[in-house]
Amino acid sequence: MPPLAEPDATGARLLALITELYPLHRSITGDGVRATLARLRAQVPLVVHEVPSGTRVFDWTVPDEWNVREAWIADASGRRVVDLERSNLHLVHYSVPVHTRLPLSELRRHLFSRPDAPDVVPYRTSYYTRDWGFCLTHRQLAALPEGEYEVCIDATLAPGALTYGECVLPGDTDDEVLISTHICHPSLANDNLSGIAIATAVAHVLAARPSRRYGYRFVFVPGTIGSITWLARNEARVDRIRHGLVLTGLGDASAFTYKKSRRGDTEIDRVVPHVLRHAGVPYAIADFTPYGYDERQYCSPGFDLPVGCLTRTPHGQYPEYHTSADDLGFVRAERLEESLRLVLAIVDALEANRVYVSQNPKCEPQLGRRGLYASVGGVGRGAEEMALLWMLNLADSRHTALDVAERSGMPIAAIDRAARVLGEHGLLKEAV
Ligand code: ZN
Repeated sequence: MPPLAEPDATGARLLALITELYPLHRSITGDGVRATLARLRAQVPLVVHEVPSGTRVFDWTVPDEWNVREAWIADASGRRVVDLERSNLHLVHYSVPVHTRLPLSELRRHLFSRPDAPDVVPYRTSYYTRDWGFCLTHRQLAALPEGEYEVCIDATLAPGALTYGECVLPGDTDDEVLISTHICHPSLANDNLSGIAIATAVAHVLAARPSRRYGYRFVFVPGTIGSITWLARNEARVDRIRHGLVLTGLGDASAFTYKKSRRGDTEIDRVVPHVLRHAGVPYAIADFTPYGYDERQYCSPGFDLPVGCLTRTPHGQYPEYHTSADDLGFVRAERLEESLRLVLAIVDALEANRVYVSQNPKCEPQLGRRGLYASVGGVGRGAEEMALLWMLNLADSRHTALDVAERSGMPIAAIDRAARVLGEHGLLKEAV
């Protein structure tokens, strides 16, 4: 993959953004999401949308807005044994307000731990069932003495809005690339924040380019309800989406996984494996399943958009997933940077994947006369010359640049360079 030309996009900068966003109390609605989007607006042109609670979005309804000020459990001596101040994973998201005293025997029903991983705090939500609860390590739960406890959840769950952000970078055509990432998880670094940081950096890099073939639409939405809401509000324009990617889980040290779109044979489903194959990184390709992240909504049958999902280890398949162990130490600057370079290489491949027509199709043009061919013959041809020959030969308005790349065994970036050189010499034109 090419090195990054953009100094703002280094792994250290990505990790710094994640570190800044990590403590915010994000959920599917509320001020934590607003604060997150406000921070991203400092970096990219982001429009923030507020959709009122109660709005119908297909089979769903935008929920009440949830905000929490404090939440704790105190023992009989008044000592706070669990406190949201220490970690925003301690409170089950969407817990209703409560202030009561109750014995441990009754409190237990509201306490969640992971007996199989006794030192981590699990991440739990109760978006659509009105209840309350706390999460703690199993070790701490097991050590709680019997007795009475005071519980306080100072929260509001009331009509408000669902907040999402959208950054649109126009292109030379109306065709668009959709990049979507979820913004609803609190202090979880890989699942959520890595996707947010990389999507923001990609937008930042692309915004600085003088021109783009495609428009790029970055959506920062709460998982599930956010993408459903976005689709409901943008139904009339989704036919512009030519390619799409859901990004998340891109900061850990494992291999990449590309999950194909529902259709499985769209351009993005060919481009991403091609880029991965030539990037020299370990990866796996997975077929579509109707579970995972927001690709489920984009790939629902009524939309069936060409949207795949790029992660490292997929959701649920690493022990740190949805626990306090998915922390700032779990994501690495160099892995984030590698992920960013990969996404930019995918974007470049999409931009490069055009169809060309040779302007000199009857026999080869004389490349030597144009300074495009090594003057000393008989020593075999270098990769750059072979890219010129492949591009010329397959420039028959029926092959895309990716077809040429795959048939020649070369990366599309090399074929793209050849196409540009040939174009400059009047030997190639883009098919219309
Ligand atoms: Zn998650």
